Amino acid sequence: MALARSFADARAVAEALRPGYPVYCLRPHVLARQAKRFLTQFPGEVLYAVKCNPHPLVVDALYKAGIRHFDTASLPEIAQIAETYPDARLYFMHPVKGRAVIKNAYRVYGVRHYVVDHEAELEKVLAETGGREVTIMVRINTPPSEGTLYHLSAKFGADPEQAAALLKRADQAGCKVGIAFHVGSQCLRPEAYGVALDLCGEILAAAGVQPVAIDVGGGFPARYVEMDSPPLSEFFQAIRDGLKAISVPPTVEIYCEPGRALVAAGCSLLVQVQLRKDRQLYVNDGIYGSLSETVDAGIRLPARRIRLGDDEPETEDTLDFTLNGPTCDSLDVVPGVFELPADTREGDWIEIDQVGAYSNALATHFNGFFPETFVLVQDPSPAFQEGAREAAA
Ligand SMILES: *Cc1c(COP(=O)(O)O)cnc(C)c1O
Repeated sequence: MALARSFADARAVAEALRPGYPVYCLRPHVLARQAKRFLTQFPGEVLYAVKCNPHPLVVDALYKAGIRHFDTASLPEIAQIAETYPDARLYFMHPVKGRAVIKNAYRVYGVRHYVVDHEAELEKVLAETGGREVTIMVRINTPPSEGTLYHLSAKFGADPEQAAALLKRADQAGCKVGIAFHVGSQCLRPEAYGVALDLCGEILAAAGVQPVAIDVGGGFPARYVEMDSPPLSEFFQAIRDGLKAISVPPTVEIYCEPGRALVAAGCSLLVQVQLRKDRQLYVNDGIYGSLSETVDAGIRLPARRIRLGDDEPETEDTLDFTLNGPTCDSLDVVPGVFELPADTREGDWIEIDQVGAYSNALATHFNGFFPETFVLVQDPSPAFQEGAREAAA
């Protein structure tokens, strides 16, 4: 397991390392709290969607908190989890897989759950596994939900008729069958899960098959600035109600595949100001590094300034600053503004919070910059200190 130094908080990190490079401050206790929340409140198995943050320290914190099921979507993800945690159960939840990859997942790593959304993919999985002991999860298309950042059904998912045909064919081929969906990431409407479950009920009735599993996917929201996300408990209740409404027998396994909601609050990012021009701050991480989702998903992140070695009292005045990333690319500017102390200057650090999801996982090496330093910190996450609502949810 990767080792990382541990500090009281991001200020202690700045004091000890004086880092001129971006540093991820990982909070294992926050990851553990989110994991416990899912494990105790979700009515079924919790599969961590590894793509959201595959860093070994993140995965390890979730494993230690009790997560044993993993939504994996590539052979490297499968190998990483299977070789580190022999007792983990892996699910291959990518609707499009290479033949050699299916063969390896099945024979080398013992993966038995495969998602499909097309006849040709189903035939591929049957051919490469023989269908023995295999559960085929049919991924369905769900209607777009307002207030969701990404609508994933635009790329994947079978229409109802096609889904019913896939379920029948897999059943006739001797596989166990299930049904899966993903309402879209950062979903702000619990009802979206109820609507999708209704559709599952209709499709299962049309197919006339007995499912062994229903997978409600990911999409559970994290807490960002200016985005009012209902507490997770409302999503779990909508799922419970949705399952009841379609009379799912208790023998059917229920899965969820959270990524973002499990890990977003588990990391903050310490960046340093390298130059100030009026209200423009030039910092050492940006949209080609840890912060691409501020563009692609329009999320806004909470931030606070950290200054060392200044005995003067902190100014109460604040200004709205723009953060410019480190590359020469003129697009490398974080959208929106960050409210920070008015005297923020070169050498100060900024701790940007809620960056555990789709951050390091998406970072590029563009222009020679790559955020790769992880340390552990022990304080509550900064955003949670401000708002007690989510902590109590
Ligand atoms: C990305 C993904 C997830 C995780 O989604 P979040 O919105 O981060 O919860 C879950 N399942 C599948 C199939 C995915 O592709």
